[in-house]
Amino acid sequence: MSATPAWPPKSAPRLFVPGPLAQGAAVSIEGAQAHYLGRVMRAAPGDAVVLCDDLTGEWLARVVEAGKRALLLAVEECTRVREAVPDFMLCAALLKKDRFDLVLEKASELGVGRFQPVVTRRCVADRLNPERAHAIMTEAAEQCARTALPELAPTLGLDALLRGWEAGRTLFFADEEGREPAAAAFAAASGPTALLVGPEGGFDAAERAAIRALPQTRPISLGPRILRGETAAIAGCGLWMAVAGDWADHPPMPK
Ligand code: SAH
Repeated sequence: MSATPAWPPKSAPRLFVPGPLAQGAAVSIEGAQAHYLGRVMRAAPGDAVVLCDDLTGEWLARVVEAGKRALLLAVEECTRVREAVPDFMLCAALLKKDRFDLVLEKASELGVGRFQPVVTRRCVADRLNPERAHAIMTEAAEQCARTALPELAPTLGLDALLRGWEAGRTLFFADEEGREPAAAAFAAASGPTALLVGPEGGFDAAERAAIRALPQTRPISLGPRILRGETAAIAGCGLWMAVAGDWADHPPMPK
């Protein structure tokens, strides 16, 4: 294992910025990111900042100028290449805002590759603010030191989702009436994967039939209790990451 660099310090602030980043590049940080870096983190000239561009990877940068409205950073070296993201898509029915925010944040921390918001008949909410959702996912990715952002797909109705389903992607249907334990089903599958979780009121009979009619669908059980949608989504993602995702073979994180 390569010696973990003592620099940048673990506490160095992390930001996703437009790329591609390169050695010697000058990056201007403005707006909310400048407020966070300058006011909250009180970054001063010479301080380290870790930048990710969701393209090349993670770079060590250093503050050159720290103004009230903008900071100028100089990119020094690439410290990690962009991570390989497991091809796992979470298809989550919209929930009440704060609960769905939780799913956006936790799914990002757990390492999902793509997030697909879904509108079903019993959804309380019928739309999602993509900019706000992207900001939640980006902040979660920065906090958990991901070097890749999850993709956020445009919100789809369930019928459209099923109609356009990718031929080679397994759809694990989190079904409280499901019989197959999720861990065994996740371990037995391979290739592109998705997990579909319903809203507070669950799927209605017609929706369940349509989901089960898809050849790629595998109904799975997340245990004997009825979980809230956000619990099922978060627990299902975590279980998949542990059984079939990148939790088993991750390189040790920098100390
Ligand atoms: N039908 C439920 C309410 C839905 S729970 C009720 O009777 O109250 C919200 C969603 O979480 C469900 O649509 C399902 O996708 C998932 N879920 C909840 N508990 C589950 C379990 N034990 N196994 C699999 N999925 C579950």
